[in-house]
Amino acid sequence: PIYSPLPERYDSGMKYRRCGKSGILLPEISLGLWHNFGDVDTFANSRAMVHYAFDRGITHFDLANNYGPSYGSAEETFGMIMKKSLMPYRDELFISTKAGHDMWPGPYGEWGSRKYLMASLDQSLKRMNLDYVDIFYSHRYDPNTPVEETLQALVDIVRQGKALYVGISKYPKDVAQDAYYYLEERDVHCLLYQGRYNLFNRAPEKEGILRQAKENGTGFIAFSPLAQGLLTDRYLHGIPDDSRMAKGKFLKKEVLTDRVLHKITALNEVATGRGQTLAEMSLSWLLKDDSVTSVIVGASSVTQLSDNLKALENTSFSAEEKEKIEMISMD
Ligand code: NDP
Repeated sequence: PIYSPLPERYDSGMKYRRCGKSGILLPEISLGLWHNFGDVDTFANSRAMVHYAFDRGITHFDLANNYGPSYGSAEETFGMIMKKSLMPYRDELFISTKAGHDMWPGPYGEWGSRKYLMASLDQSLKRMNLDYVDIFYSHRYDPNTPVEETLQALVDIVRQGKALYVGISKYPKDVAQDAYYYLEERDVHCLLYQGRYNLFNRAPEKEGILRQAKENGTGFIAFSPLAQGLLTDRYLHGIPDDSRMAKGKFLKKEVLTDRVLHKITALNEVATGRGQTLAEMSLSWLLKDDSVTSVIVGASSVTQLSDNLKALENTSFSAEEKEKIEMISMD
């Protein structure tokens, strides 16, 4: 066999947190496949990251229909890895996918219709070589579709056995509350709210999304916890050629203003004082709050992933450190 997982994978420091009021425990660090797993990327590197993750107790892998590029290709990459090495461990894995953003041409290939969600999940299952996903998300709120239509599709997907749990991503607070009620009334508890949360983006805290999820017994899972790489040492001394900022369209060069660079530099100093890299500290900082169930990191190499896992070694902050971080990130 090309791969056999480390027997000590659950004894290497990974911790698991209960996801709201549910039976599910998720690893404090999960792996996201938005970038670096597409057909434009090197398959061997993508596979090495997935294997490394599983070997370190990362049981949760986060996907979506259109991750790549090209659209669908991250699911295909994951599907190949499933087929060739991880299938015997299917019951140790918690796999997600989503539909909501642009996926195929025409009026049924994005947003929140029942038509789109049902067809998209069927496609995702085929690409990933799976019979079911562990959680299926509505990837974004669709203001032009009655939210009941989207939510009922989620309920029916669970009834059909194509997903064990459901979740919502990036929903505005008031609609999220409607969703929690709607799903609960149909005995399909909303397992997770997935939102952007990092030192530079405090909306879930400010808008009360974190508190609301907790009150509804729903877990919160943070995406882009490193602000796509800004909250690491990647851009401290320029823009490396192989970085997301240099290569892609999702992290714009304009974001790296003098002010932002100044903040990153100051945060990096605080991290050094704690004996951490900036990436480690940025993840630790999110995990200090027990209303965060897990953080979904992205990585372009095993080295980055291994650095990120070190965040788990120190997730407590002194009052002084917290204050310093607050001053720097908020000013
Ligand atoms: P991050 O904020 O973790 O950024 C990941 C990037 O940061 C990497 O690709 C790498 O960039 C850099 N990086 C990571 N670790 C290190 C390190 N230790 N040192 C230096 N640089 C590092 O997350 P993403 O933005 O990738 O999002 C994570 C996941 O969240 C996605 O894969 C997806 O699953 C989910 N997501 C969900 C969304 C939603 O709408 N629900 C939206 C966005 C993401 P580089 O490539 O330059 O090396």
